[in-house]
Amino acid sequence: METNPAIKREITAFMDGLRKRNKGETEFQQAVREAVETLIPFTAEHTQYRDAYILERMTEPDRIISFRVTWEDDKGGIRADRAWRVQFNNSIGPYKGGLRFHPSVNQSVLKFLGFEQVLKNSLTGLPMGGAKGGSNFNPKGKSDREVMRFCQSMMIELHRHIGEDVDVPAGDIGVGAREISYLFGTYKRLENRFAGILTGKGLSFGGSLVRKEATGYGAVYFMRLMLEQEGEGISGKTALVSGSGNVALYCIEKLIELGATVLTASDSDGFIHDPQGITREKLDWLIDLKENRRGRIQEYAEKFGCDYHEGKTPWGVKADLAFPCATQNELEAEDATAMVKNGVRAVAEGANMPCSAEATEIFLANDVLFGPAKAANAGGVAVSGLEQSQNQLRISWSREEVDARLVAIMTDIHTKCVRYGARHGKPVDYRAGANIAGFVKVADAMLAYGVV
Ligand code: NDP
Repeated sequence: METNPAIKREITAFMDGLRKRNKGETEFQQAVREAVETLIPFTAEHTQYRDAYILERMTEPDRIISFRVTWEDDKGGIRADRAWRVQFNNSIGPYKGGLRFHPSVNQSVLKFLGFEQVLKNSLTGLPMGGAKGGSNFNPKGKSDREVMRFCQSMMIELHRHIGEDVDVPAGDIGVGAREISYLFGTYKRLENRFAGILTGKGLSFGGSLVRKEATGYGAVYFMRLMLEQEGEGISGKTALVSGSGNVALYCIEKLIELGATVLTASDSDGFIHDPQGITREKLDWLIDLKENRRGRIQEYAEKFGCDYHEGKTPWGVKADLAFPCATQNELEAEDATAMVKNGVRAVAEGANMPCSAEATEIFLANDVLFGPAKAANAGGVAVSGLEQSQNQLRISWSREEVDARLVAIMTDIHTKCVRYGARHGKPVDYRAGANIAGFVKVADAMLAYGVV
């Protein structure tokens, strides 16, 4: 995108200040840079936001709670991990955002995720502020009992800071149905109340149908909308998916349902390439492997006789569509270059910030349709919002009802992106559209509150 020199200087000055205030927090700096590159040109034209220092205020979390989680392993050893809850912005609703358990978790990662969550939650149109939390605890290789003791200990601190009108955490990497259940059960005991203080709960205790599938389904719905905008469809296209966790598995499920051929899936050890495509039967096996047996993706290649590429990512395989659904910065400039060469048509980010800044620029420069995480993976938090509504109303909607609402929300997000990101003679700039549409609602609320 062409930016005039004065705006470029403003972006540089803004980022210099942010880097000084957030030293060494490279992921957070990357997420803010990606946003302000499109938001500063916008606030330069809509000066009410600039005059009120909205961007400076919006890039500073409301608060960060940092604490130690001490727990006992199966051998009786005492372990201590670090945990955080970053309550980023509650201007338009109670804080909302997932918990991540992974050794790579630190304050910078949670600040990047919390900042993006503010804009994403705003885009959904639901009354949700943004937050993120988690721990450097590694659930991999731990027994169920160890994970339970960790979750119980974590909630002993966390329960003071959350509540249905305060902050409602959910799952993320390393936090699925098992962890949410342990966390919820502990909250209930500590507070002696049954309330919708977490989302992603089991169906027997306040969970919503389609929550498990929502992020993956939503990413595919968003891809369908981007393609339809250009007069195309999903059926008959080939697709690359990375990851084999919650988002990836249900992204694959919806792609199969809509007639695409999914060629790849991965985990942190490598990827499988199945040129015949992952069928419904193979996917059922894979879901059982990942959700129940906690196995590795390599076992898919052994079971179905296809190639396994250890230590590699799937981006070199030729395909029409790509869905990075594993983790941040998993798709870099050289991957994007190879994909453009291979004729990739569109990319939808299932994970948060999976494409590096350089990779994103390459897609945009080559007119590859690019659905940024804030828009493309907002289906998960949207159905979390619907889970909260059902909890407050003490009712449960049917699968069809929740799915129809998810489709409606993704369609509304797409419309907002087109409104703020349309370009003459070029595909929609969904990155700019998502940033600006998410920003405006939060910024207007902050303006209305005065100096807060
Ligand atoms: P899961 O823990 O269920 O799955 C994560 C998957 O990504 C696993 O296959 C994991 O492999 C792989 N992965 C994780 N870290 C790395 C890494 N450093 N390098 C390579 N592969 C890695 O998490 P989710 O599916 O819930 O989340 C995936 C992404 O989607 C994250 O960016 C998350 O923030 C985002 N997201 C999730 C939402 C949700 O509703 N769950 C909502 C919106 C966004 P392995 O098992 O080997 O670690």
